[in-house]
Amino acid sequence: MKTKTTKAKKPKASITIRDFFQQFPTDHACLEHIFTIRFGQGHECPKCVRKANWYKIQAERAYSCQWCGHHLHPTVGTPFEDSRTPLQLWFYAIYLFTTSRHGVPAKELERQLGVTYKCAWRMGHEIRKHITQVDGEFPLFGQVEIDETYVGGRRAGIRGRGAEGKTIVFGMLQRGGQVMTKIVPSVKAKDLQPIIEENVAKGSTVHTDELRSYKNLQRVGYDHQTVEHGSGEYVKGISHVNSLESFWARLKNSVKGTHVHVSRKHLDKYAKEFEFRYNSKSKPISMFPSLVSTFAKP
Ligand SMILES: [Zn+2]
Repeated sequence: MKTKTTKAKKPKASITIRDFFQQFPTDHACLEHIFTIRFGQGHECPKCVRKANWYKIQAERAYSCQWCGHHLHPTVGTPFEDSRTPLQLWFYAIYLFTTSRHGVPAKELERQLGVTYKCAWRMGHEIRKHITQVDGEFPLFGQVEIDETYVGGRRAGIRGRGAEGKTIVFGMLQRGGQVMTKIVPSVKAKDLQPIIEENVAKGSTVHTDELRSYKNLQRVGYDHQTVEHGSGEYVKGISHVNSLESFWARLKNSVKGTHVHVSRKHLDKYAKEFEFRYNSKSKPISMFPSLVSTFAKP
């Protein structure tokens, strides 16, 4: 099993900006892409019930059946339908989310796309919403780090559990595998343990700090290893939560540095965005197509 200290193999390069503009030089190319994902040539016409070739209709986001002239509208029911933002800008924004390492703040989208801040904010929000769909949740097993952290709020400088105005993010990270985050109402055992039991296979080795909420994990079927943060004992054999802590650091830096203030309501989406990025790091090339696909399939 790979540990954090082993340098991960360099993943395949993600889609370059040149690749992007080659594939999507125009709004039309983007619409074609959506059409292909959603229907495709040869799609059976819902009206004449024949397999048809579909022809793009001039100046409309529609395709027409070769036999009966029935129209298909590939963007209907998708977030693109009611948006006046050109499809190519949407695609480019999605591209930015899948290539950025630290997230894309609305200000950055505003600047790069030349849209209003409000529009940029809404696009970012929509993209994050879709990210939560594309990053599926799988049971974790093997060596799993478990930890909780406090994000946001006004008293950013104050450490300690339960700091006011902060949102508690709970995380589980399989070494060499996936990470999973949840927003939790408290760090009490009643709020944490069920999440662990639901998502981490019994028999796994779970690494936590000394929070009392974790004290029953051994009893319910896990090999429970603890690390004492208080005494500076950060690494005890292989018992540490370093991988998860570096994940937290990236999430917090982004929230603090680029998103100015993230409300509790939206923090789960930001956490999911980072989760998606982490979980896709071995296959960055697939991030963009899989995210675009969720947009094209209402
Ligand atoms: Zn037809």
